[in-house]
Amino acid sequence: MTPSLPIIEVAIPLYLDRTFHYLVPESLQGSAETGHRALVPFGNRKLTGYILGPVATSDVATLKPIISILDSEPLWTPRELEFYRWVASYYQHPLGEVLRTALPAGINIQTRKGTGGETETLAGGKTALREKYYLPLAGATTSRQPGAKALAVLAVIQEQGDISAPELRSRFGACIPQLKRLTELGLVRELEREVYRDPFKKQLVNRDTPRPLHGHQKQALDSIAATLDRQEFAPYLLYGVTGSGKTEVYLQAISHARAAGMNALVLVPEIALTPQLTGRFQARFGGGIAILHSGLSDGERYDEWRRIRRGLAHIVIGARSAIFAPLDSIGIIIVDEEHESSFKQSDGLRYNARDLALVRGRLEHAAVVLGSATPAVTTLYAARQERLQLLELPERVQGRPMPLVQLVEMKKGGDAISPPLAAALAATLEEHRQSIVFLNRRGYATFLVCSDCGKPLTCPNCSVTLTYHRQRGESLCHYCDYAVPAPGTCPSCNGTTLSELGIGTEKLEQQLKELQPTARLLRMDSDTTSGKGSHGRLLSKMNDGSADILIGTQMIAKGHDFPEVTLVGVVNAEASLGMPDFRAAERTYQLLSQVIGRAGRGTIPGRVILQAVDTEQYAIKAAAHHDAEGFYRQELEFRQEAGYPPFSHLAAYAISGLSEQGVTAQAEATARLLMQLKGELKVRVEILGPAPAPIYRLRNRFRRQILLKAPSRNDLHRLLSLWRSRAKVDANVRIAVDIDPVDLM
Ligand code: ADP
Ligand code: ZN
Repeated sequence: MTPSLPIIEVAIPLYLDRTFHYLVPESLQGSAETGHRALVPFGNRKLTGYILGPVATSDVATLKPIISILDSEPLWTPRELEFYRWVASYYQHPLGEVLRTALPAGINIQTRKGTGGETETLAGGKTALREKYYLPLAGATTSRQPGAKALAVLAVIQEQGDISAPELRSRFGACIPQLKRLTELGLVRELEREVYRDPFKKQLVNRDTPRPLHGHQKQALDSIAATLDRQEFAPYLLYGVTGSGKTEVYLQAISHARAAGMNALVLVPEIALTPQLTGRFQARFGGGIAILHSGLSDGERYDEWRRIRRGLAHIVIGARSAIFAPLDSIGIIIVDEEHESSFKQSDGLRYNARDLALVRGRLEHAAVVLGSATPAVTTLYAARQERLQLLELPERVQGRPMPLVQLVEMKKGGDAISPPLAAALAATLEEHRQSIVFLNRRGYATFLVCSDCGKPLTCPNCSVTLTYHRQRGESLCHYCDYAVPAPGTCPSCNGTTLSELGIGTEKLEQQLKELQPTARLLRMDSDTTSGKGSHGRLLSKMNDGSADILIGTQMIAKGHDFPEVTLVGVVNAEASLGMPDFRAAERTYQLLSQVIGRAGRGTIPGRVILQAVDTEQYAIKAAAHHDAEGFYRQELEFRQEAGYPPFSHLAAYAISGLSEQGVTAQAEATARLLMQLKGELKVRVEILGPAPAPIYRLRNRFRRQILLKAPSRNDLHRLLSLWRSRAKVDANVRIAVDIDPVDLM
């Protein structure tokens, strides 16, 4: 009898609810470790699998052997795997897909069709970069003398200890002959070394030192530091008004963790990952920082990931996917602006990084700090229920007052800029201070309407109106990028008189130019920041005082610290209220509070003009009066009456497809099956729908949704799991289950 081969459990990145067993052939024993990827036979394909670990026996009769091992180092630790298993179970997503999502894009295996139609799998994706380095050789003596330039090169190499070829080139220009000569003479040695692509691009930052904390900051820090010393899980809500010094608390808490040899993970909304924020961390900590965000190339992302995995970075700052950073010994996880909806991934694995921070923090015995000036209603409620420890910073640093807010009542369809706002802009300009004018709508007009038939121009692929962009000369769909020349003609009646309705940032810029011809204007929205680095360039123009008025969408509402901004104008405070979403009031309150918080962050007090049609609306009024207490009280009452979170748990089925009939039939079948299973399980779950999604057509797909509401999370999950095991889905229809949905559009 031959001794039986070891068996391993492998997850495969496909939409399959199970894992698979494989044999490890003798030649691969010792390298088929947990956390490595393996190339495995699967049907008649070869796929990448993730090794989860050894298993003692398998009830599968004929196991196949794996083909090869793709990594020399494990990609995740057992503790990380425990986290991924939790994620897979909670979000009802296959483990292999979870692992694929968690790994950096650059690492993934690429498959291509071979000549005979067979699928060939290539290990790789991105590869490590290598660069030439030069080192001085000690004690080398020679009678022959190198030339003057070679001697200068040698001096630099000796002074630096080692130096890369590109750096030598940038100092001396072409110097290959000199280097060759120095090498021949045995004075220097050349070697090739793996280098990491540097997302900071060698940006230099002046070091700073911790500031003495004010009373509330100190209390907050002491509490977090005590947790760090005990190395145990403790979740916090750091609830501090804009400009109260939350970031300073984060920095000092991280210092405390670092001093004890622990690492830190910092999650921020994508939009806040500016050089300004990363600069503050660099200034405080110098090196050892890794950053992860969508602006990185696959190569940069892969390099940052490996630096973290190898323990070369101790502080990781990133957008939502950084929750999967391969960081060991995590002492503290910070989620800044925790209320931001961008922490939620909206397709594939629909995770919420804010929620996962608490889960990972528990597994890592870490302190988890959720920070916000305007916490999510659910987060604040959890703090009041003492599921999170509440740390408050109720005042701005150095006693700076909150800005003075004036509510200006507007008439529907009137001018975009009210006389008080125009006067305030003129006065601010005269004082040589800066202003921000906020309008959460890009483009020129909101849309074009045909004067002959009265129909607005809509997208042929999506059920939304097209936005008129004058500079581009196009009407554009903001969902699918469909564009037609504009103004153009009416597609319904061929009418040629199209009139503009509503206003976007582009038109606002033009109106402000007419109003203040001498003002230097800057516009910041996704149209003006699409180029690499353009975001940073616009911000630095604001910082160095070469702009007077910054016009922008929500992109300017967050995280920026412009000390010279003393005036903030909000053109249309209710822009975000019209959404058919139970969180519309919450989002409006948060956005307005953030925008208001941009004013008066320096030594000069700020002032804000909020224009609104309905100045009595509670979210607008509360934001204007800095009345957080009032807002949360009213909002919680509404949530309780309507049975929305935090008084229930939600899940949504998004059903979509190209055939309207197919989608309708599948949606109805799904709801029927859910009703039936609910009866079998006797669980308390409310099943709403199927209803057409608010955007019924998107990129040509018809969309319906079913919303589930349950007082108990356990009931909800039992129903979802049973549905998953029983459902039969039409192959032409896609059903996505979204746990704790954020976007219901
Ligand atoms: P937040 O993150 O709450 O908006 P920041 O941490 O950015 O607030 O602080 C606002 C400003 O006040 C920053 O310029 C910061 O450097 C400064 N600051 C923070 N804490 C202190 C302190 N204790 N003493 C002096 N200045 C401080
Ligand atoms: Zn469209």
